[in-house]
Amino acid sequence: MAVHNYTLHEAVSGVYMITDGNYQNMFVTTSDGVVVVDAPSPLLNLIEPAIREVTDDPVTTLVYTHMHKDHIGSAGKVAAGKLATPDLEIYAGGGTAAYLQAKQDPNRPVPTHVFSDKMTFTRGGRTFEFEPHLYHCVAGDVLVSMPQEKVVMAVDLMAPDWVPIFDFDIAVDLFGYMNAFDYLLGLDFDTLIGGHAERLSKREDVQKTRDYVQDVYQTVKRMRSELDISGLYAEDRGTEQRLAKDLFTSVWLDAAKEIAERWQDGPMRGVDLWTESHCRAMFMYVHFTD
Ligand SMILES: [Zn+2]
Repeated sequence: MAVHNYTLHEAVSGVYMITDGNYQNMFVTTSDGVVVVDAPSPLLNLIEPAIREVTDDPVTTLVYTHMHKDHIGSAGKVAAGKLATPDLEIYAGGGTAAYLQAKQDPNRPVPTHVFSDKMTFTRGGRTFEFEPHLYHCVAGDVLVSMPQEKVVMAVDLMAPDWVPIFDFDIAVDLFGYMNAFDYLLGLDFDTLIGGHAERLSKREDVQKTRDYVQDVYQTVKRMRSELDISGLYAEDRGTEQRLAKDLFTSVWLDAAKEIAERWQDGPMRGVDLWTESHCRAMFMYVHFTD
């Protein structure tokens, strides 16, 4: 009996999530081959056996949610592997495609099909929506949804049972990041594949993370508004940079303390690890952008 160090979750019939306990990707069986969304580098040797566990059909389509190598760094292996058809189609958003074209990384093949607006993709009786967003990756993110199956894949937004990792999962745009939660909750879905954690997420997981993120936002905003930063600067221009360092730091540290009091006992883990970084990232957003 083959021993695999991965777990296969079937969200709905024919829609699978593979995980090693941390990273996740998705594959979908259709009557015209298998559609694979993302190929994380840690799943390098797990994707082919996981697909072969459920079907003998070839992989005809690969989709990138974003260009980070931890999430698509096994794409080269999938594309060159024995499961992929020679005319494998690779779909990605415009920013991702431009980056990969410039980068020429054999582990992340350049997409064959590029889109800049929301597109509907049908393959073998399945319908997918590919929708460009910008919440996490500097080259853009793509939400992949399957309306009929009520499955959404939004990578590096959140992980169930955990607060986001540092700096809200290194989100480049906290405005887009916060809006993405509301956008997702406006969609009719039952299952979310977030790219991380051992299990599939449900609507209530998205809601819980949204509540946490909003608490960080409101808390940092309130504490920032209580400071007259420009007035304090004006008192002594000669120490402006020292003052900025001390004031900014005091706001995010105070906010982190208050947030930890409300969230350290659950429902999500990781407050001790990441909340200070969240408050720091949120301070930068509130101070410079909000
Ligand atoms: Zn990423």
